Amino acid sequence: MASNPQRHEFQAETKNLMDIVAKSLYSHSEVFVRELISNASDALEKRRYAELKGDVAEGPSEIRITTDKEKRTIIFEDTGIGMNRDDLVRFLGTIAKSGSKDFIEKNKENAEAVIGQFGVGFYSAFMVADSVVVTTRKVGSAPDAGLQWSWSGDNSYEIGETDGLPTGTRIEIRLKVGDSASYAEEARIKEVINKYSYFVSAPILVNGERV
Ligand code: ADP
Ligand code: MG
Repeated sequence: MASNPQRHEFQAETKNLMDIVAKSLYSHSEVFVRELISNASDALEKRRYAELKGDVAEGPSEIRITTDKEKRTIIFEDTGIGMNRDDLVRFLGTIAKSGSKDFIEKNKENAEAVIGQFGVGFYSAFMVADSVVVTTRKVGSAPDAGLQWSWSGDNSYEIGETDGLPTGTRIEIRLKVGDSASYAEEARIKEVINKYSYFVSAPILVNGERV
Protein backbone atom coordinates (compact mmCIF):
# COMPACT_ATOMS: atom_id res chain seq x y z
CA MET A 1 0.00 0.00 0.00
CA ALA A 2 1.28 3.48 -0.80
CA SER A 3 1.71 5.97 2.03
CA ASN A 4 1.28 9.73 2.00
CA PRO A 5 -0.83 9.82 -1.18
CA GLN A 6 -1.20 13.12 -3.03
CA ARG A 7 -3.91 13.82 -5.58
CA HIS A 8 -3.20 15.62 -8.86
CA GLU A 9 -5.58 16.71 -11.61
CA PHE A 10 -4.76 15.85 -15.20
CA GLN A 11 -4.18 18.98 -17.30
CA ALA A 12 -7.32 19.84 -19.28
CA GLU A 13 -5.39 19.27 -22.50
CA THR A 14 -4.21 15.87 -21.31
CA LYS A 15 -7.75 14.79 -20.47
CA ASN A 16 -8.93 15.98 -23.86
CA LEU A 17 -6.16 14.05 -25.57
CA MET A 18 -6.96 10.92 -23.58
CA ASP A 19 -10.54 11.08 -24.88
CA ILE A 20 -9.38 11.54 -28.47
CA VAL A 21 -6.95 8.64 -28.14
CA ALA A 22 -9.63 6.40 -26.67
CA LYS A 23 -12.12 7.23 -29.45
CA SER A 24 -9.76 6.98 -32.39
CA LEU A 25 -8.12 3.77 -31.19
CA TYR A 26 -11.31 2.09 -30.11
CA SER A 27 -11.22 -0.60 -32.79
CA HIS A 28 -7.46 -1.09 -32.37
CA SER A 29 -7.31 -1.30 -28.60
CA GLU A 30 -4.62 -3.99 -28.78
CA VAL A 31 -2.00 -1.32 -29.58
CA PHE A 32 -1.77 -0.54 -25.85
CA VAL A 33 0.24 -3.77 -25.52
CA ARG A 34 2.69 -2.55 -28.17
CA GLU A 35 2.93 0.89 -26.53
CA LEU A 36 3.63 -0.42 -23.03
CA ILE A 37 6.22 -2.88 -24.36
CA SER A 38 7.85 -0.10 -26.34
CA ASN A 39 8.01 2.10 -23.20
CA ALA A 40 9.54 -0.80 -21.25
CA SER A 41 12.05 -1.30 -24.03
CA ASP A 42 12.95 2.44 -24.04
CA ALA A 43 13.38 2.30 -20.25
CA LEU A 44 15.73 -0.69 -20.59
CA GLU A 45 17.80 1.19 -23.14
CA LYS A 46 18.04 4.23 -20.85
CA ARG A 47 19.20 1.97 -18.04
CA ARG A 48 21.74 0.31 -20.29
CA TYR A 49 23.08 3.74 -21.26
CA ALA A 50 23.44 4.74 -17.59
CA GLU A 51 25.32 1.47 -17.02
CA LEU A 52 27.69 2.15 -19.89
CA LYS A 53 28.45 5.59 -18.47
CA GLY A 54 29.22 3.86 -15.17
CA ASP A 55 26.44 5.68 -13.32
CA VAL A 56 24.67 2.54 -12.11
CA ALA A 57 25.48 -1.12 -11.51
CA GLU A 58 24.66 -3.59 -14.26
CA GLY A 59 21.44 -5.51 -13.93
CA PRO A 60 19.21 -7.82 -15.97
CA SER A 61 17.20 -6.52 -18.94
CA GLU A 62 13.79 -8.09 -19.01
CA ILE A 63 10.14 -7.37 -19.76
CA ARG A 64 7.70 -9.53 -17.84
CA ILE A 65 4.00 -9.70 -18.58
CA THR A 66 1.61 -11.45 -16.23
CA THR A 67 -2.04 -12.10 -16.94
CA ASP A 68 -4.76 -13.15 -14.54
CA LYS A 69 -8.11 -14.04 -16.04
CA GLU A 70 -9.89 -14.38 -12.70
CA LYS A 71 -8.78 -10.95 -11.51
CA ARG A 72 -9.09 -9.46 -15.04
CA THR A 73 -5.61 -7.97 -14.83
CA ILE A 74 -2.52 -7.63 -16.97
CA ILE A 75 0.81 -6.51 -15.50
CA PHE A 76 3.83 -5.17 -17.39
CA GLU A 77 7.13 -5.14 -15.50
CA ASP A 78 10.53 -3.98 -16.62
CA THR A 79 13.97 -3.71 -15.08
CA GLY A 80 14.55 -0.38 -16.81
CA ILE A 81 15.47 3.10 -15.63
CA GLY A 82 12.33 3.65 -13.49
CA MET A 83 10.78 7.03 -12.63
CA ASN A 84 11.07 9.51 -9.79
CA ARG A 85 8.30 11.91 -8.73
CA ASP A 86 9.20 14.59 -11.28
CA ASP A 87 9.22 12.01 -14.06
CA LEU A 88 5.80 10.69 -13.01
CA VAL A 89 4.19 14.11 -12.99
CA ARG A 90 5.92 15.23 -16.17
CA PHE A 91 5.62 12.06 -18.22
CA LEU A 92 2.38 10.49 -17.06
CA GLY A 93 0.38 13.57 -16.08
CA THR A 94 1.09 15.98 -18.91
CA ILE A 95 1.57 15.84 -22.64
CA ALA A 96 5.22 15.23 -23.32
CA LYS A 97 5.42 16.76 -26.75
CA SER A 98 3.73 19.95 -27.80
CA GLY A 99 1.61 19.66 -30.90
CA SER A 100 0.69 16.04 -30.20
CA LYS A 101 -3.00 16.87 -29.82
CA ASP A 102 -3.18 18.65 -33.19
CA PHE A 103 -1.30 15.84 -34.81
CA ILE A 104 -3.54 13.10 -33.42
CA GLU A 105 -6.65 15.06 -34.36
CA LYS A 106 -5.46 15.38 -37.95
CA ASN A 107 -4.57 11.70 -38.10
CA LYS A 108 -7.59 10.12 -36.45
CA GLU A 109 -7.98 7.58 -39.25
CA ASN A 110 -4.62 5.98 -38.67
CA ALA A 111 -4.13 6.92 -35.05
CA GLU A 112 -2.92 3.42 -34.20
CA ALA A 113 0.08 3.90 -36.48
CA VAL A 114 1.13 7.31 -35.21
CA ILE A 115 0.30 7.15 -31.52
CA GLY A 116 3.73 5.95 -30.41
CA GLN A 117 5.46 8.90 -32.02
CA PHE A 118 3.80 11.68 -30.09
CA GLY A 119 4.28 11.07 -26.43
CA VAL A 120 0.84 9.65 -25.78
CA GLY A 121 1.49 5.90 -25.93
CA PHE A 122 0.96 5.42 -22.20
CA TYR A 123 -2.59 6.78 -22.46
CA SER A 124 -3.58 4.00 -24.84
CA ALA A 125 -3.79 1.79 -21.72
CA PHE A 126 -6.66 3.91 -20.41
CA MET A 127 -8.84 2.65 -23.25
CA VAL A 128 -8.98 -0.87 -21.87
CA ALA A 129 -8.64 -0.05 -18.17
CA ASP A 130 -10.90 0.49 -15.20
CA SER A 131 -7.81 1.34 -13.20
CA VAL A 132 -4.05 1.61 -13.69
CA VAL A 133 -1.42 1.37 -10.96
CA VAL A 134 2.21 2.19 -11.76
CA THR A 135 4.80 1.32 -9.14
CA THR A 136 8.29 2.45 -9.93
CA ARG A 137 11.72 3.24 -8.53
CA LYS A 138 14.46 4.99 -10.44
CA VAL A 139 17.86 3.30 -10.73
CA GLY A 140 20.39 4.81 -8.36
CA SER A 141 17.71 6.02 -5.91
CA ALA A 142 17.38 4.96 -2.26
CA PRO A 143 15.44 1.74 -1.46
CA ASP A 144 12.66 3.80 0.12
CA ALA A 145 12.29 6.06 -2.95
CA GLY A 146 9.66 3.88 -4.60
CA LEU A 147 6.46 5.52 -5.82
CA GLN A 148 2.97 4.44 -6.67
CA TRP A 149 0.97 6.32 -9.30
CA SER A 150 -2.66 5.33 -9.55
CA TRP A 151 -5.67 6.22 -11.61
CA SER A 152 -9.15 4.80 -11.27
CA GLY A 153 -11.15 6.22 -14.13
CA ASP A 154 -11.62 9.88 -13.25
CA ASN A 155 -9.87 13.18 -14.05
CA SER A 156 -7.20 12.82 -11.43
CA TYR A 157 -4.41 10.55 -10.34
CA GLU A 158 -2.63 9.92 -7.06
CA ILE A 159 1.04 9.57 -6.20
CA GLY A 160 2.08 7.88 -2.97
CA GLU A 161 5.31 6.48 -1.56
CA THR A 162 6.24 2.83 -1.23
CA ASP A 163 9.24 1.20 0.40
CA GLY A 164 11.26 -1.80 -0.72
CA LEU A 165 10.54 -1.74 -4.47
CA PRO A 166 13.10 -3.09 -6.92
CA THR A 167 14.31 -0.52 -9.48
CA GLY A 168 12.30 -0.42 -12.69
CA THR A 169 8.60 -0.11 -13.38
CA ARG A 170 5.51 -2.23 -12.90
CA ILE A 171 2.20 -1.29 -14.54
CA GLU A 172 -0.89 -3.13 -13.38
CA ILE A 173 -4.02 -2.73 -15.44
CA ARG A 174 -7.41 -3.82 -14.23
CA LEU A 175 -9.31 -4.42 -17.45
CA LYS A 176 -12.82 -3.29 -18.29
CA VAL A 177 -15.54 -5.87 -18.50
CA GLY A 178 -16.30 -6.87 -22.11
CA ASP A 179 -13.91 -7.01 -25.07
CA SER A 180 -11.05 -5.50 -23.07
CA ALA A 181 -11.11 -8.43 -20.66
CA SER A 182 -9.62 -10.62 -23.41
CA TYR A 183 -6.22 -9.05 -22.65
CA ALA A 184 -6.15 -11.05 -19.44
CA GLU A 185 -5.89 -14.19 -21.59
CA GLU A 186 -2.41 -15.50 -22.22
CA ALA A 187 -3.11 -16.68 -25.78
CA ARG A 188 -4.51 -13.28 -26.77
CA ILE A 189 -1.49 -11.43 -25.38
CA LYS A 190 0.95 -13.75 -27.11
CA GLU A 191 -0.88 -13.15 -30.37
CA VAL A 192 -0.61 -9.36 -29.99
CA ILE A 193 3.07 -9.55 -29.01
CA ASN A 194 3.87 -11.67 -32.03
CA LYS A 195 2.10 -9.18 -34.23
CA TYR A 196 3.85 -6.02 -33.01
CA SER A 197 6.85 -6.54 -30.82
CA TYR A 198 9.40 -8.10 -33.15
CA PHE A 199 11.41 -4.87 -32.89
CA VAL A 200 12.12 -5.31 -29.18
CA SER A 201 15.56 -6.71 -28.41
CA ALA A 202 15.02 -7.45 -24.70
CA PRO A 203 13.52 -10.80 -23.72
CA ILE A 204 9.76 -10.72 -23.18
CA LEU A 205 8.27 -13.25 -20.77
CA VAL A 206 4.56 -13.98 -20.61
CA ASN A 207 3.57 -15.69 -17.38
CA GLY A 208 7.19 -16.72 -16.90
CA GLU A 209 7.70 -18.18 -20.35
CA ARG A 210 9.81 -16.47 -23.01
CA VAL A 211 7.92 -15.56 -26.20
P1 ADP B 1 6.71 8.41 -25.37
O1 ADP B 1 7.13 6.98 -25.16
O2 ADP B 1 6.46 8.71 -26.82
O3 ADP B 1 7.62 9.41 -24.72
P2 ADP B 1 4.52 7.64 -23.68
O4 ADP B 1 3.19 8.24 -23.39
O5 ADP B 1 4.50 6.27 -24.23
O6 ADP B 1 5.28 8.62 -24.66
O7 ADP B 1 5.39 7.68 -22.37
C1 ADP B 1 5.62 8.92 -21.75
C2 ADP B 1 6.88 8.91 -20.92
O8 ADP B 1 6.67 8.21 -19.70
C3 ADP B 1 8.08 8.21 -21.55
O9 ADP B 1 8.80 9.07 -22.42
C4 ADP B 1 8.91 7.84 -20.33
O10 ADP B 1 9.70 8.94 -19.93
C5 ADP B 1 7.86 7.59 -19.27
N1 ADP B 1 7.61 6.15 -19.16
C6 ADP B 1 6.54 5.47 -19.62
N2 ADP B 1 6.65 4.14 -19.36
C7 ADP B 1 7.83 3.99 -18.70
C8 ADP B 1 8.54 2.84 -18.15
N3 ADP B 1 8.05 1.60 -18.25
N4 ADP B 1 9.72 3.09 -17.52
C9 ADP B 1 10.22 4.34 -17.41
N5 ADP B 1 9.62 5.44 -17.92
C10 ADP B 1 8.44 5.28 -18.55
MG1 MG C 1 5.96 5.38 -25.61
